[in-house]
Amino acid sequence: MPTEPITSRFKLVIQYGKQSISEEDIEAVSEVLRSDFLTQGPLVPRFESAISSRVGAKHGVAVNSATSALHVACMACGLTEGDWLWTSAITFVASANCGVYCGARVDFVDIDPTTYNLCPEALHKKLERARQEGALPKILVVVHLCGLPCPMERLRSLADEYGFMIIEDASHAIGAEYLGQPIGSCEFSDITVFSFHPVKIITSAEGGMAMTNSEILARAMASARSHGITREVSLMTEPPHGPWHYQQIGLGFNYRLTELQAALGLSQLDRLDEFIMSRALIADRYDDLLAELPIQLPSRPLNLKSSLHLYVIRVSQGEQRHRHIFEFLRQEGVGVNLHYMPVYRHPFYRKMGFKKGYCPEAEAYYREAISLPIHPSLDSAEQTTVIEALTKAIDIY
Ligand SMILES: *Cc1c(COP(=O)(O)O)cnc(C)c1O
Repeated sequence: MPTEPITSRFKLVIQYGKQSISEEDIEAVSEVLRSDFLTQGPLVPRFESAISSRVGAKHGVAVNSATSALHVACMACGLTEGDWLWTSAITFVASANCGVYCGARVDFVDIDPTTYNLCPEALHKKLERARQEGALPKILVVVHLCGLPCPMERLRSLADEYGFMIIEDASHAIGAEYLGQPIGSCEFSDITVFSFHPVKIITSAEGGMAMTNSEILARAMASARSHGITREVSLMTEPPHGPWHYQQIGLGFNYRLTELQAALGLSQLDRLDEFIMSRALIADRYDDLLAELPIQLPSRPLNLKSSLHLYVIRVSQGEQRHRHIFEFLRQEGVGVNLHYMPVYRHPFYRKMGFKKGYCPEAEAYYREAISLPIHPSLDSAEQTTVIEALTKAIDIY
């Protein structure tokens, strides 16, 4: 395969996802630069409270990425060597890597062929087998792929029956709702993680947050975020030597969010509803104008509110055709993408022994999926270009 020139990532194409930055955002960040605190100031806790109250969780722990949030979440849940973490076969690698960071073993559950989220029936079967083998997971990371909520009630009852903890990787799903409840309320899970990377729903440049209703988990995550150090006397394991004293009571990292990032995140949060609304309008227009094409459109169940982070179509009739359509769209300046290859097919996971074909529905999805551009700054002329290019591609191939 020819290697891409290094500049090609940055040439003008209709991107699949992109931030929307307002003058208010710029002003909010500039104000921090003129203030006393660039980090560890008042805005990070304010951002945590704002997200917590928005999604209805008791605690929010802001960190420098969703990847870090997943890591501290796994640490707080006590994940360690010899434990198993399971996640969906179709997700970003971070949903699985967090298990490896903790020395745990990782395994993958196949997806539902219509929602593309982890399939509860496949999970149930796998749990039955694991129970017989005495190898039940300690943590299940469920992923609300594209912003479409997973069937949390069902997953909760499996968690109760088989005794595992649930972390929701809601990197795609701030603003989504499950049975009228905001994703992030943690009603059916132990911890929910958001990402504020620029392609996600709202951004703080890099950034993430872990939501929970458990004070114990929140404290453990806050500690892991900052070296395992505490300044609270009540938490110290030995008497403090004096008012200057802090103690490291566990092992942590520097996963802190900056004040600049918190300011941007807070400002962006004001537009969350607006962002979700414009994504919904774009999705509605795709639904209408692509309805006649011989492709599978995303499932949009009426009882669930998706944040519509991604709009994934599926084209059948073989890998070759999928590839041709994908390449045609890229050539036409449409920045399509593929979210995602089954995680276990990455070389790192293949080395652990996972084989191609391990999760058949995930493999079928991978042979057919294409993410079309969807983000609040996509204007209707650009969307028309996408629709026309896709129509042409389907016509040719
Ligand atoms: C983006 C993403 C992450 C990682 O988010 P970062 O904030 O970039 O670390 C994790 N899981 C999923 C499903 C994602 O899409």
